[in-house]
Amino acid sequence: MPAAPKLQCAYYAYWADLPMDGRYEAYMVGDRAFAAWPTNDGLTVVIGALPMRDFAANRADIEGGYLATIARVPAFAERTASATRTGRLVGTAVPNYFRVPYGPGWALVGDAGYLKDFITGHGIQDAMDGFARVNAGLTTPGEFFSDPRLTGVPRPAG
Ligand SMILES: Cc1cc2nc3c(=O)[nH]c(=O)nc-3n(C[C@H](O)[C@H](O)[C@H](O)COP(=O)(O)OP(=O)(O)OC[C@H]3O[C@@H](n4cnc5c(N)ncnc54)[C@H](O)[C@@H]3O)c2cc1C
Repeated sequence: MPAAPKLQCAYYAYWADLPMDGRYEAYMVGDRAFAAWPTNDGLTVVIGALPMRDFAANRADIEGGYLATIARVPAFAERTASATRTGRLVGTAVPNYFRVPYGPGWALVGDAGYLKDFITGHGIQDAMDGFARVNAGLTTPGEFFSDPRLTGVPRPAG
């Protein structure tokens, strides 16, 4: 199966009273990146990412690493000064893989069959797409593997 190990780790938290003007913002500075966007109840999620090679060292001070990533964009960091972080930092990293997503009488949709780094922002759409395909009965090998996104995925024997 085509696969890649975990490539990045990200930590996120929700902030109250962070001025966003309804925007989605994303920043990449060197080998760090972060993004922020408004969610429900007036809260803004701010997610900061680091490469997996720095994961172990970052664990010694996860909060410091998160804030240092934000501090790479001083204009954004200034806006967080008047905001309040609600709740704890949550972190995750995911491996990347394809699984053969079907067999006689069963099919996988979503992350169960095709998991990729969340920086792509495609997981929900792909899960819905997979469901639509299964629901439409498009699960024969020829139909399923005709999707160009599956180029290189080995077809099961038989
Ligand atoms: C930090 C992060 C940010 C992301 N951002 C985006 C984004 O911006 N845009 C985007 O499109 N995608 C994003 N994704 C990816 C997206 O969340 C997933 O691709 C999507 O949720 C996959 O949907 P799913 O239904 O396959 O799996 P899931 O949403 O994981 O649902 C599986 C469900 O099955 C339940 N379950 C597991 N085992 C069992 C069991 N044995 N019995 C019963 N229930 C069980 C789980 O509790 C879970 O509720 C992000 C992922 C992460 C981690």
